Amino acid sequence: MTFDATVSARRPLDFRSDTLTRPDEHMRSVMAKAEVGDNVIDVDPTIRRLEERAADVLGMPAALWTPSGTMANLIALSTHLRRGDRFLAPRGAHVLVNELGSAAWLAGGMPDPLEHDAGPGRPTPQTLRAAVGGSGPYYTLRTTLLSLENTHNASGGAVIPPEEHDQLVATAHEAGLRVHLDGARIWNAAVALGVPPATLTAGVDSVSACFSKGLGAPVGSVVAGSEEFVEQARRMRQMLGGGVRQGGILAAACLLALDRIDDLAADHAKAARLAAGLRERGWDVTEPRTNIVLAGVADVAATLETLRGLGILTLPMAGKVRFVLHRDVTEDDVTEALRRIESGPFDKMGQ
Ligand SMILES: *Cc1c(COP(=O)(O)O)cnc(C)c1O
Repeated sequence: MTFDATVSARRPLDFRSDTLTRPDEHMRSVMAKAEVGDNVIDVDPTIRRLEERAADVLGMPAALWTPSGTMANLIALSTHLRRGDRFLAPRGAHVLVNELGSAAWLAGGMPDPLEHDAGPGRPTPQTLRAAVGGSGPYYTLRTTLLSLENTHNASGGAVIPPEEHDQLVATAHEAGLRVHLDGARIWNAAVALGVPPATLTAGVDSVSACFSKGLGAPVGSVVAGSEEFVEQARRMRQMLGGGVRQGGILAAACLLALDRIDDLAADHAKAARLAAGLRERGWDVTEPRTNIVLAGVADVAATLETLRGLGILTLPMAGKVRFVLHRDVTEDDVTEALRRIESGPFDKMGQ
């Protein structure tokens, strides 16, 4: 076989998402050996083990495995909302923007975005309180749920610090709202803040979290809450077609993913280095808190195309170019990406 230098120089560097992380040999062997049962008619022992461990790590009484984070959020919103209830979420939240309107179409909620006046990805308690308003006569709109997101994807993986989380939860509860936390990347938030994940779920009525992002698992999320919540959630999962029979093969990967949370610090370091490198080259990037770098550019579509031409794959997010760092992108890949960008035609694009 001959070595093709041209192909090697344009080896694709894939920053599109941390969902790209693939199960390695070790994960595959753990999956192959998983003890399984029928998780619909009976119980799958590996799914049960994962649910118990995830509940423990998240500091919740119980947890339920789901095939995706989208299903986990939909189950939570469907359980909390009645048809026509208004729910609040920080502008750009995944449940508002990236779940195809299922919060309205299937869960029956009427979404209302909250501005990020406390910092990226988070409103102040005052903004939350003002949005809820007071109680009124029978023809008053009913607002029943606050859905937070930690980390906030569209804000570039921004974190909600524990004190602010606690204040928002307290404000929501005082106003009679329940609180769901979309914690698809709660593991990243916990690592960035140096706290256990359970610190970031304090007081919430439910939380969802993903294993298929950044940790190498091919499939799997959880939704956690009270025993009663999980009992209802289990029925909802079944309705949505999420009753997976020998799912232990998948849950085994999720269990291993839980052992890898500390590894995410390396992704955050790579994100910081990429952001610093882009800034040195004149790009408009904010300091990443976790593994996502957002770059503001004049023309997103044109920049994505130019990057693609350099063998750098990215996706648009919130009107910016999103680079996501993950375990399948190495330190060398970051160096190589910066080298390609340096030699690219970006000076012509106002970068
Ligand atoms: C990815 C993501 C989800 C959904 O997870 P899937 O497993 O892709 O369905 C939910 N919320 C946030 C913030 C996400 O980034």
